[in-house]
Amino acid sequence: MKITEVTAYTPCEERQDLDMTYYYPLTLVKIDTDEGISGVGEGTLETKCLTVATCIKELGDGYLLGKDPLRIERHWQAMYRGSYWTGGPVINSAISAIEAALWDIAGKNYNTSVYNLLGGRYRDKIKCYTGVGGATPEELADNVERALKDGYTACKTMAFGENPSGRTIDAMEEAEQRCKAVRDRVGDKIDLMLDCHGRCSLEEALGLVEKLAKYNVRWLEEPFFAENMDALSELRKKSKIPIATGERLYTKWGFRELFEKQAAHIIQPDPIHCGGILETKKIAAMAEANYVNVAPHCPYFHVALAIAIQIDACTPNFLIQEGGRIRGKWLVKEPFEVEKGYIKLPTKPGLGIELDLDAIAERPYKPSPPRPGRGYGYMSYREDGSLNPR
Ligand SMILES: [Mg+2]
Repeated sequence: MKITEVTAYTPCEERQDLDMTYYYPLTLVKIDTDEGISGVGEGTLETKCLTVATCIKELGDGYLLGKDPLRIERHWQAMYRGSYWTGGPVINSAISAIEAALWDIAGKNYNTSVYNLLGGRYRDKIKCYTGVGGATPEELADNVERALKDGYTACKTMAFGENPSGRTIDAMEEAEQRCKAVRDRVGDKIDLMLDCHGRCSLEEALGLVEKLAKYNVRWLEEPFFAENMDALSELRKKSKIPIATGERLYTKWGFRELFEKQAAHIIQPDPIHCGGILETKKIAAMAEANYVNVAPHCPYFHVALAIAIQIDACTPNFLIQEGGRIRGKWLVKEPFEVEKGYIKLPTKPGLGIELDLDAIAERPYKPSPPRPGRGYGYMSYREDGSLNPR
């Protein structure tokens, strides 16, 4: 079997936020072969979707055409090491998208699910958590209550909002009010995870875990960027709340120091950014040896979720999957559904999905207008005019 074509797609989804319409672009790949088998992958990277698509095109035309798609490890090493310049979110997202498409082809070639090629079915269904918003603590409690009624056993929200004053005490107070509103409303019936999007200093994160410990928080996520493992390690050792991180770490090499320094209780590799399906399995195996569980990052679209689910199905230290609010159902012909907080394991060959190319053609790329109060991408500003850390 030989690869005959590598095509990148950059459709976009229309969304409403802050009373305006904006566009959320995504990046997909389809790899065709001379035996009529095609595979699909996703490499959506916010604000860099066209860049990743170009990287996919360069890897496709420059390396993959004419190659046997089943030699996945060899192609991964060639794509990762072969261009001299390695690493970073753009290159790794392009490689991840392509690698997932190769696994999709492999599954279809052997007429079985990808998880059956990676150790077999370890669990029967995949537990998911859903993201919940809320501009006020009361609104957050309403949304958590709704998630509980929908059958979820876990949900995640932002620890605090934009914190325009930039004062630590304001952010901490807001985080406490949000946790209190949830626990007052639903007790401990649902796991609550808090994401910080890397906005804290070490001092702020130490304060947060102290203040919020009594609210039974399941994990505090990405208190600051995971680049400084010594700071994360210090926080993890002192924190009564489990520390989760890893959505912005790439490849097994990016996670190595995290395990060496015992810098997190839970890791969140993103299968469409960290290097792909097999790379996530390798990172999960490193985590398993360190008694660390894995909750794959996936706020993206249906193809990314299908990729994550194949990994979750065959990974013993899998904890829970992000993505309960399935985005981009329009991308595929028979979308997955969440039933009482779980997604059934797909049984169709490969990733178990089929792209709807007509629907994709109907939603071409559109640049999103800046949103009020927000600049490029998702940046926001403080009262003094400085940038809010993201
Ligand atoms: Mg996060």
